[in-house]
Amino acid sequence: MEVNLISDTVTRPTQEMLDFMMHVNVGDDVFKEDPSVNALESKVADLFGMEAALFFPSGTMANQTAIKIHTQPGQQLICDHYAHIFNYEGGGVSFNSGVSCALIEGERGRITADQIEKRINPSDFYHSPKTALVALENTTNKGGGACYDIGQIKKIKELCDIHQLPLHRDGAGIWNAMLATNTSPDEYGALFDTISICFSKGLGAPIGSALLGSKKAMDDALRVRKMLGGGMRQAGYLAAAASFAIDNHWKSMENDHRKAKELEKTLSNLPFVNYIAPVDTNIVIFEIENQMKENHFFDTLHDLNILFIRMGSGKLRFVTHLDYTDIQHKYVINELMKLNF
Ligand SMILES: *Cc1c(COP(=O)(O)O)cnc(C)c1O
Repeated sequence: MEVNLISDTVTRPTQEMLDFMMHVNVGDDVFKEDPSVNALESKVADLFGMEAALFFPSGTMANQTAIKIHTQPGQQLICDHYAHIFNYEGGGVSFNSGVSCALIEGERGRITADQIEKRINPSDFYHSPKTALVALENTTNKGGGACYDIGQIKKIKELCDIHQLPLHRDGAGIWNAMLATNTSPDEYGALFDTISICFSKGLGAPIGSALLGSKKAMDDALRVRKMLGGGMRQAGYLAAAASFAIDNHWKSMENDHRKAKELEKTLSNLPFVNYIAPVDTNIVIFEIENQMKENHFFDTLHDLNILFIRMGSGKLRFVTHLDYTDIQHKYVINELMKLNF
C-alpha cells in the first residue's frame, strides 16, 4: 500500500467526475463563450454573494491578479510573514506588480486589526510606500491550516474601510475554513473586495481556481489574466470538474478533518513527538525530539510507503485529502502506534 500525505493537491479525479466532465458543452473561453466556464463563474459568484467571478488555471495566478488590480508599482501591501503570496509565489508580488510587502509576525499566519493598523503608512507621508492593500490567508497554509475567527475579520474590514484600503483573501483553504468554523460563503463575500478560491486542493478537482469580486474588479482582472497568459480556450471541461467538486466533495471534506484530528491524537501519544500544532482542518504539523530521531521517523515511514514532507526548521507535515482512504488511515494509525524508538 502507498499512502500519500504530501499535500491535498495529489488527488486524482474520480470516475464520476471524469464522466461528468466529458458531457458538458464547451466553447472558447477567451471569447467568454464557454457555457461551462460561464456557469461555474456565476455559480461561485452567487454562492459567495459577490457580483462576478473569473476562472483561473492556478491559485497563484488568481492571487497575483488580485494584487495587480488593487495596487500600483511602488506601493505596499500588508500580510503575515507566513503568507503564501509572499513566500511561495516566486516573488510575483514584486515581479508582476512592483509592490513590496509589510510583513507582520502573526500567530500561525493570522494577523489582527491592531497589528495591521500599526503598519499602515500615513497617506500624506510621501517618504514611505503608500499602503494599498491588506491580504489575509484563510486557512493559513504554513500556519498549519489555522482558521480566522470571523469576528476578527470584521474588525479588519472596519479598519480597511476607515483607511479606504481594499481587502483580499487568499482562500485556497476557504472550503476547509467554512466547514471548520461553520460559516457560509456569503458571510465572507460581504467582507472582502476580492477572494481567491481553489478547486484543486481539498475539493479534489484536477485544475483550477477562481477570483471573486465586483463586476468592475473582474473586468480589470480579465485583462490581467490575459497578460499573464491565463486565457484558456475550451476550459469548460475543467470548470465542470470544479462544479462537480463543489456539489459532491465539499461536505465530505469533514472526513479529512476528522482523520487529521485522529492523526494528531495518535502522534500526541508518541514519546518522541514533542510538538504538534493544534489541528483545525486537514493539516497536521509536528516536530520530533531531535534530528536523529526525525531522520529515523522519516526513513521508517518512507519504507512503509507513507509519504509526507519536511517543511524545514524541523517541521513535518501530514495533509489529509479525498484520496486518503479509511483503509489507508487505519494502516497509518497502526504503523504509527507500533513505532518505538
Ligand atoms: C496552494 C495555495 C495557493 C496557490 O495555489 P496554486 O494553485 O498551487 O497556484 C495559494 N495560497 C495558498 C494559501 C495555498 O495553499
